[in-house]
Amino acid sequence: MLSESIQSELGEIVGNEHLLTSPEALICYSYDGTFHESLPEAVILPADTAEIAQVLELCNRQRIPVIPRGMASGLAAATVPVDGGLILNTVRLNRLLEIDKANMMATVQAGIITSDLQLEVEKLGLFYPPDPSSVRHSTIGGNIACNAGGPRCLKYGITGDYVMALEVVLADGRILRTGGKAIKNVTGYDLVSLFTGSEGTLGVITEATLKLIALPEAKRTAQAIFPRLEDASKSVNAVLWGGIVPATLELMDETAINAVEDYMQLGLPRDAEAILIIETDGDPADAARDMDVVARICSEGGASEVRIAKTPAESDELWRARRSISGSLGRKRPNKLGEDISVPRSAIPDTIRGIKEISQNRNLPIVIFGHAGDGNLHPNILFDKNDPEEWQRVQAAVADLFGLAVAVGGTLSGEHGVGTLKKPFLESDVGPVAIDVMRSVRHALDPHGILNPGKIFD
Ligand SMILES: Cc1cc2nc3c(=O)[nH]c(=O)nc-3n(C[C@H](O)[C@H](O)[C@H](O)COP(=O)(O)OP(=O)(O)OC[C@H]3O[C@@H](n4cnc5c(N)ncnc54)[C@H](O)[C@@H]3O)c2cc1C
Repeated sequence: MLSESIQSELGEIVGNEHLLTSPEALICYSYDGTFHESLPEAVILPADTAEIAQVLELCNRQRIPVIPRGMASGLAAATVPVDGGLILNTVRLNRLLEIDKANMMATVQAGIITSDLQLEVEKLGLFYPPDPSSVRHSTIGGNIACNAGGPRCLKYGITGDYVMALEVVLADGRILRTGGKAIKNVTGYDLVSLFTGSEGTLGVITEATLKLIALPEAKRTAQAIFPRLEDASKSVNAVLWGGIVPATLELMDETAINAVEDYMQLGLPRDAEAILIIETDGDPADAARDMDVVARICSEGGASEVRIAKTPAESDELWRARRSISGSLGRKRPNKLGEDISVPRSAIPDTIRGIKEISQNRNLPIVIFGHAGDGNLHPNILFDKNDPEEWQRVQAAVADLFGLAVAVGGTLSGEHGVGTLKKPFLESDVGPVAIDVMRSVRHALDPHGILNPGKIFD
């Protein structure tokens, strides 16, 4: 519990109604998109950058841990407190400050919901491509702090590719403005990139200027069914070698196909080893021509069927299978642990075979889907956390998964970040020297370690 005098100082900064300390409020802020839970000591909802600067100055002086939080959709327990502290929620900083049409950029406050920004810019024929599947319930600040990806990354890149400038409140309350609207900018260290993906450990992002592009006029969607996983994987490379970069190229393996079919009965082929869901976009003629090439390559590469949507409704129907995966898993077991390994594209078949072996050896269902175009797979382990023996096997399976990812030349996380979940495995991926460098950077910016302590590394 924060002392009464600190609560009163915090209340003076933001107004008492924006400082929450009741047990029921604390419970609401004790978890994220994972199954981790831990209570904060208080929750603060500042209105603007100036208030955040005052809050951080006070917390730095009093050595109070501050855990930045957007919509808490994170999947690495990065916004779940480790040992009490103050949750700093940015949701009141939710304004779209400017759409600069001439420079094709938007400036937003960090707490804006990602899809709110997307809908606004699309009204002007502009496009903000990063599309974590959580776009409707995650913030731009959270997306930047996790360097979020999504299905469209293969063609359009990740969040970090769109961040031009940031306003960040540092641990001691100073306000840093870095980057700008100049496309080329190599003046000094690239601090925008430093804060991107820093998971709330280096500063609180309060404002961002984001690059926009022209909204593609049309898109085409296809679902390609492959009796053999190997053929699906080879077709992904063949499509790219064919000169086509689809907007999305998603993979569901047989475990995901069967989980969705159990739940939704969409008529998916239970005996297929893989389904690819592919979208092309651009002007109408290009999107259609690219889709014809994709369909031909998939058919020649072993697809037993390629269904191409003729209408937006049919396209939605083809996406339904992919979108239903998470929901269908919830019906199978009480808990799921969604991992996020990222491997070289050529290693996808070996990785999927390896995951199936882990599933068998650890006697745990693991459902596999992900972004085949960029090698980012989401093996989801299904389990019951109330069964201690099963939980031990889950932890062993996670270690196996990370070992497998690193062994095939990949990495622990493609888009969800490290948080607390992957912290024990970080060194096995990046090595001790990298951790040492990261620790020095963190110490330089936050010598008292008040920002999101216990996350990424100790
Ligand atoms: C159903 C579902 C689907 C998802 N799909 C994807 C996907 O396709 N791709 C993907 O990349 N992720 C995905 N995610 C994960 C998650 O949505 C993203 O990581 C998202 O970027 C988190 O945003 P948030 O606002 O919810 O952040 P939070 O969960 O609140 O916070 C996440 C991290 O960012 C930090 N943070 C938040 N705001 C700030 C700020 N203003 N300044 C500094 N640090 C801050 C927090 O401290 C924490 O470390 C998915 C999650 C769910 C539940």
